[in-house]
Amino acid sequence: MSGVAEERVARQEPWQTGEADIWEEKFGVIVKMCENTVVLIDPLGEEDKYSRRILRNWRSFVRANVDTGNKTVWKLQTFKHQLQMDGSSCGVLTLNFAEQYLTSGSIDQVETSPASIRAERLEIAGLLMENQGNIDEYCIICSMMDLQSANTTINMVQCDHCNRWAHTECTLYSAEELSHDFSFMCKKCKVNG
Ligand SMILES: [Zn+2]
Ligand SMILES: [Zn+2]
Repeated sequence: MSGVAEERVARQEPWQTGEADIWEEKFGVIVKMCENTVVLIDPLGEEDKYSRRILRNWRSFVRANVDTGNKTVWKLQTFKHQLQMDGSSCGVLTLNFAEQYLTSGSIDQVETSPASIRAERLEIAGLLMENQGNIDEYCIICSMMDLQSANTTINMVQCDHCNRWAHTECTLYSAEELSHDFSFMCKKCKVNG
């Protein structure tokens, strides 16, 4: 569970969504904080195989991080839905199922035919391109904007060669080392000479 997820739990946001990987297959987990419910959606329809494990992991995560002492009873919910028809569209379908569930509360209208998968991929590609934002705001090493760690101040250092930025922490140099006339060159620039 990532730091972002932990933070959301801590702030008791009503919704928490995530994508999980077991056996290299993707499935969706949506946590409804206010209803104490974990929604599990597996494009292949194999929810029963690991639903108990998901619920058990979630319970111990909450117990360890937020709900210490208080014994909330968590339920797991699954739905009937169309099944994935190929071996490669689990990621697309997971997104699609999650989106449908969050907007309408049901997932039985999600289509899994090759044609609808193709359309969905195109739509996702378009959305990614529209929302890619300013690449300069992301760390060139971890590709994230914020660090996962609990550090409150985020220090960044600029590559003298390509002028892009990296989290100080991600460079593995100490702040001390980087503060004295240090010329930082990112890995990519080093490799490219
Ligand atoms: Zn970073
Ligand atoms: Zn560079």
